[in-house]
Amino acid sequence: MSPSQRWQAAGDGILRWVGSPVDVNCILVRGDRLALLVDTGSTREEGMELRRAVEAGLGGRELVLVNTHAHYDHCFGNSAFPEARIYASEGCVATLQRSGISQRREAAEAFREQNPEFAALLGAAPIVLPNRPVHGEARLDLGGIEVQLLVVGRGHTDHDMVVVLPDLGVVLAGDLVEESGPPALEDAYPLSWPRVLDRMLALGPKLVVPGHGQPVGPEFVARQREQLDQLANWCLGELGVGPQVSQHRVPFPSASLGIALDRAKLDLPLGPSSATADGTPEDSLP
Ligand SMILES: [Zn+2]
Repeated sequence: MSPSQRWQAAGDGILRWVGSPVDVNCILVRGDRLALLVDTGSTREEGMELRRAVEAGLGGRELVLVNTHAHYDHCFGNSAFPEARIYASEGCVATLQRSGISQRREAAEAFREQNPEFAALLGAAPIVLPNRPVHGEARLDLGGIEVQLLVVGRGHTDHDMVVVLPDLGVVLAGDLVEESGPPALEDAYPLSWPRVLDRMLALGPKLVVPGHGQPVGPEFVARQREQLDQLANWCLGELGVGPQVSQHRVPFPSASLGIALDRAKLDLPLGPSSATADGTPEDSLP
């Protein structure tokens, strides 16, 4: 498939490129002066393929990048864009620095059996840290299109950043919203996540582009928020700080519930103020 055929329209003036084998959405928004690429895929090779696809439609615009969060499928393609400004939350930069190498090792290991070729590329992916850390909020003017970068609080991770396009009524949500599968909980804060989606819905988006799967409307986000709220209530009951909720009322696979409960302990008011990822000091990047 030629690079240009990889793009799909994802709303007015917004293009979506879907990674493979991990179905991450990489999103291109073009203003008069700047083009914005949100998330870069899983490997250097995927990043290079994405770069070729982006350059085919750049038309002289400078390209700036955003990583929504520090999971490998959203940022391990950064090395294909060595000269670019790459925006990400301060927490994203710190997480990649602290645990990028251990994450890379674990992700490569997870693919070793089913897709050894991808596992090898993943294991060799250079980790390039975003060079424009965002504290709280930042704004970009692409030329005719305003962009708000919002660090929204604990949800899918402790450092998710969403990209808001107020003129277009669009939010690029990263993995705070998932369409192609249930929300991923491994690094999540299940008790706080529903409030983050409240904040997203309060922006009044007409269209939300998730980190994986098809673009959705606000009603889908509201439904996912309710499901996460049921999960949070179940966790509170299990932790003895809320009424007991039957497991059958929680719309998540039972395998996820143990993970959610462990994560919820980190999210209680009396719990640790911030969870640490599992990187060891010798894994840290300079
Ligand atoms: Zn993620």
